[in-house]
Amino acid sequence: MEHTDVIIIGAGPAGLFAGFYVGMRGLSFRFIDPLPEPGGQLSALYPEKYIYDVAGFPKVYAKDLVKGLVEQVAPFNPIYSLGERAETLEREGDHFKVTTSSGNTYTAKAVIIAAGVGAFEPRRLGAPGEKELEGKGVYYAVKTKAEFQGKRVLIVGGGDSAVDWALNLLGTAKEITLIHRRPQFRAHEASVKELFKAHEEGRLTVLTPYEVRRIEGDTQVRKAVIFHNGTQEEKELEVDAVLILAGYLTKLGPLANWGLELEKNKIKVDTTMATSIPGVYACGDIVTYPGKLPLIVLGFGEAAIAANHAAAYANPALKVNPGHSSEKAEEKAPA
Ligand SMILES: Cc1cc2nc3c(=O)[nH]c(=O)nc-3n(C[C@H](O)[C@H](O)[C@H](O)COP(=O)(O)OP(=O)(O)OC[C@H]3O[C@@H](n4cnc5c(N)ncnc54)[C@H](O)[C@@H]3O)c2cc1C
Repeated sequence: MEHTDVIIIGAGPAGLFAGFYVGMRGLSFRFIDPLPEPGGQLSALYPEKYIYDVAGFPKVYAKDLVKGLVEQVAPFNPIYSLGERAETLEREGDHFKVTTSSGNTYTAKAVIIAAGVGAFEPRRLGAPGEKELEGKGVYYAVKTKAEFQGKRVLIVGGGDSAVDWALNLLGTAKEITLIHRRPQFRAHEASVKELFKAHEEGRLTVLTPYEVRRIEGDTQVRKAVIFHNGTQEEKELEVDAVLILAGYLTKLGPLANWGLELEKNKIKVDTTMATSIPGVYACGDIVTYPGKLPLIVLGFGEAAIAANHAAAYANPALKVNPGHSSEKAEEKAPA
């Protein structure tokens, strides 16, 4: 059993920033996250998209924001237990015990849950060949544009991700075809206009209402068979990659059984970000309270509140108010 002062469940932006504050208070902490790298949705779903609404950054790549958060917390020696999902949370005497999907048990005086939208996974189409060719040309997210350099790409979807990536991959991919099962798109109007302009200019092809019948290939994707869902007419497309951006399925996962008070699959918190279990705090997309918005900047503010209250719970000698980091720079913060 390994012990830290605080355990942070989820290493997305809210969890990482909570770690920073716990570290600033001089306490030890561990991140637990089933993903292979920190950053939550930003790393897993949209690393190369710009974010425009983080205070102080007119625009910032999601992956660069994560890089900054990881750098900011690094001087406080965080322990990363990545590739592990928190499965159970129980109180034992004066500490909490968390077991994970890897069979490890970790203990802490206080816990911060920053599990975002819970366990999230891409919505799969269920088309023949899709599962077999995952990792061999079937993608559910764009990690780097370079993966699509010079490739013939079929993009499937009608939301912002599908439309934005069709436009973003212009100039990188050799050929782009976007299909959507309905004629109407759910993306921003301006992006949809831009998409159809690119289609009219012959820079990419948009086909509606089309769906994927099957994906074919061997060691990699070679072909996609698509069909018009009205007439059933089929088309064969020679492609190197199929990028499926049909949304995400989210489920709360194991934390639904931890005895926390929930509302519509979110954890209810009070103004100190305390959950219904004393010593367990929460922040970010996973929480609900009147006026909550699922935004990164709100997650940062909530993380500061959750972390300072968790720190004072873990070490009652600490005051909740951390004071100003600018005044403690030499003592606590990185050079
Ligand atoms: C395409 C897209 C674009 C977006 N653009 C913007 C934008 O421009 N501006 C903005 O403010 N927001 C944007 N968002 C929303 C933003 O990404 C979220 O608000 C933010 O990621 C929430 O941060 P978080 O740390 O609370 O959760 P997440 O980023 O979801 O991180 C939670 C982490 O918890 C982990 N986790 C889940 N369950 C467990 C468990 N049982 N044990 C351990 N770990 C667990 C997950 O694996 C994940 O890594 C966008 C979202 C998407 C999908």
